[in-house]
Amino acid sequence: MSLDALMAIPNLINKIGDVKLRSQLLDALGSTIEVAGQNRELTEENAELKRLLLLEQSLSFENNFYWRECGPDGEVDGPYCSACWDGEQRLIRLHRYNGRFFGCPVCGVVRTKDGEPVMHGTSEKFRRSSRDAIRPAGARRLGADQ
Ligand SMILES: [Zn+2]
Repeated sequence: MSLDALMAIPNLINKIGDVKLRSQLLDALGSTIEVAGQNRELTEENAELKRLLLLEQSLSFENNFYWRECGPDGEVDGPYCSACWDGEQRLIRLHRYNGRFFGCPVCGVVRTKDGEPVMHGTSEKFRRSSRDAIRPAGARRLGADQ
């Protein structure tokens, strides 16, 4: 029974003349609605956990990068940021930087093509240059040139 169908029951219960029976039914209905809400939350949580499990099963870890298997013949997509996946289970595609590095636009991790870490001091610089890279040609940053 859906939550909406449960919410229509009080109108039926109010037609019952026995006050004690009406009170017991309303209490039981309240408990049922509470359990239905918990069931909905758990169902949504379970679906999210299944999605994460399938995603995790499709990942492989190589040279400090994650790669996602995405085709029937073993095609892979990536690389993805290991820091973001391991820390927050967020699959973040790494961006090419200067043709020699891969950097994460979210956490700022920068690695060589072989997966070796680059000095952390470049992380903020990468995030800034990554944002600049996606700005359309000719577009100006707000507040610039003023
Ligand atoms: Zn990251």
